[in-house]
Amino acid sequence: MTEFTVHTYTAAEKGICVNSYLLETADGVLLVDANLLVADARALAARIAALGKPVLAAFVTHPHPDHFNGLPYVVGEDVPVHATTAVAKTIEETAAAKREQWQPTYGEQWPDRFRVPDQTLAGGGTVEVAGLRVHIHDLGPAESDADSYLLVEAGAQRAAFIGDLAFNGLHSYTADGHSAAWLAVLERVTGELSGLPLYPGHGRASDGTAMLTRQRQYLLMYREAVRRLSAEAPSLTPDQKAELTEIMSGYLPGAALGWLVGLGADAVAAELAAAGS
Ligand SMILES: [Zn+2]
Repeated sequence: MTEFTVHTYTAAEKGICVNSYLLETADGVLLVDANLLVADARALAARIAALGKPVLAAFVTHPHPDHFNGLPYVVGEDVPVHATTAVAKTIEETAAAKREQWQPTYGEQWPDRFRVPDQTLAGGGTVEVAGLRVHIHDLGPAESDADSYLLVEAGAQRAAFIGDLAFNGLHSYTADGHSAAWLAVLERVTGELSGLPLYPGHGRASDGTAMLTRQRQYLLMYREAVRRLSAEAPSLTPDQKAELTEIMSGYLPGAALGWLVGLGADAVAAELAAAGS
């Protein structure tokens, strides 16, 4: 018997194709990640309203704006928002600067307020809500400064919500400069996630860990290309970034989010230069 149904809301490319997930049970709805732009957050709220059930809790997988920006538009102030302590702390410390960085690009679609998760678990833990057990696994830095994944259980039904550990079929955000740690985390979690349906922050859900393997291959390719182009310099020239984008576009032909390739180049070049010194 199915104990929960997963509904997916996916933003368009302007909203970084980010996924929000609604876990519907007999009692209500859980939200996993809240989307980036005001219009998408409002559409997500409408999707929840159409289910005709209350939102009982929200979860934030990691502290990037495409996963927490929409919270004030999607859940009421009385709804608990869960995350690891590291995720909450990073949101608190970076949300204002992120808005300053990105509001010129997104205008009024960038929310003018944000919400920090208020139900925090240091190092992860388990939340029981709506008849589900949600295990929050703290992963440390990987795609962001503080990543986690959620393992949701109800009876025999299990699923994992893996945040941005994998961009399934899309180009990846590498601008936080933790590509080595990300590779190590991918290797570490592959065993514990095998055989489960995986719901990534970007790209399609699927059963099995092939998306984690492909993410490792993408990051290895990206690092190798940055290493060769930068020749140990801590940043790339505009021409080198264009070449990197061409290389990665050849690696993932037709994939969305190609603009992320150049965005993360300096961070990874600096990471590699520091590791090599
Ligand atoms: Zn994301």
